Amino acid sequence: MAGTSIRGKGDGTLGWLRERNRERVIGVLRTQGRTSQADIARATGLSRTTVSSLVAELRDSSLVFEVDVKEPNVRGGRPGVQLVLQDSSSAVVGIDFGHSHVLVAAADLAHNVLAERRCELDVDHNAEEALDASARLAVEVLDEAGVQRKNVLGAGIGIPGPVDRARGTVGSATILPGWLGLRIGAEMEKRLGFAVEIENDANLGALAELTWGSGRGCANFAYIKVATGVGAGLVVDGSLLRGASGTAGELGHTTLNESGALCYCGNRGCLETVASGPAILRLVGRDEGESLTLGGVIELAAQGDVRCRRAISDAGREIGVAVAGLCNLINPERIVVGGLLSRAGDLLLQPIRDSIRRYTVLAAAECVDVVPATFVERAELLGSLALAIRRAKPSSTAP
Ligand SMILES: [Zn+2]
Repeated sequence: MAGTSIRGKGDGTLGWLRERNRERVIGVLRTQGRTSQADIARATGLSRTTVSSLVAELRDSSLVFEVDVKEPNVRGGRPGVQLVLQDSSSAVVGIDFGHSHVLVAAADLAHNVLAERRCELDVDHNAEEALDASARLAVEVLDEAGVQRKNVLGAGIGIPGPVDRARGTVGSATILPGWLGLRIGAEMEKRLGFAVEIENDANLGALAELTWGSGRGCANFAYIKVATGVGAGLVVDGSLLRGASGTAGELGHTTLNESGALCYCGNRGCLETVASGPAILRLVGRDEGESLTLGGVIELAAQGDVRCRRAISDAGREIGVAVAGLCNLINPERIVVGGLLSRAGDLLLQPIRDSIRRYTVLAAAECVDVVPATFVERAELLGSLALAIRRAKPSSTAP
């Protein structure tokens, strides 16, 4: 993933080609740290004229600066003018704890993901082990990206549950029991040696969509994550709404039926008892054996399996009921639907739209669009990078 831009890909025009060549030049600068125009031309295969014009552009926008090397350097480089990437010395780390995985990435302040690692782990029940694994992966991505620890400006950390931001802990005794009482912020700062900020996973999804995805340019929207659980990240007037203790957006525990099934949160008839991944699997899974996954249900639905289609569209209807209440309260202009179940497309989205139309006051229903998220599997990881980049103060690593 080295040097991959998070921003959207181009359209095959000359502008796109130039942007791509520019990224190749930056890629060489990033991997080599300090290099000459001639070496960049050799490494990329681009003409010296092209490299020279790209470098001039990068220099004018202060992305690259020159150093005059008087002595041959330790790697045997010749004396002369060498180029250094302005942002190459500073980076941020993003850590995403899922229920069964840990994803870690390093990015520069120009929003390029420099390196990325993943490991599978029972995160819910092995909190300490998950923290250790994430710290180990952070060292690996920083090494791969060639970033020194002292140049890391901070880390964003995503947790799959409500977060008490003031205490740096998980904000619920029932939703992530293995993490209860653990001071995640302090524990991670001890392991990593730099400042961290923790955030709920749905909020990070919202932040990723706000920064690079379907929420770009939108001051008021709700990001709904539908996967193992159902959560919401709310952007109000351009900022995340966190609430008094940081647990705003627990949409999955909206009571839809007070005599409904008992939820793991201790209440009855929560949205998650009828519309989460496990609820859908319970509905359709019995005849398919133990191996059926949520991804499998989405695939079967796409192939026309009527039971899977019905289970997903019923989930959409129920989610729409809860989202309608949200629309009445915060009047968003967009609902961005993410999480694995959003892969079902309009099969999930259309029933959400129908419920919103049915249960929201007309003025609020008329102005809201329901759209799929741009990011699904990596939403929280990208959001954790966006969180860290937003918090990072530009370093003063001038030549
Ligand atoms: Zn509940």
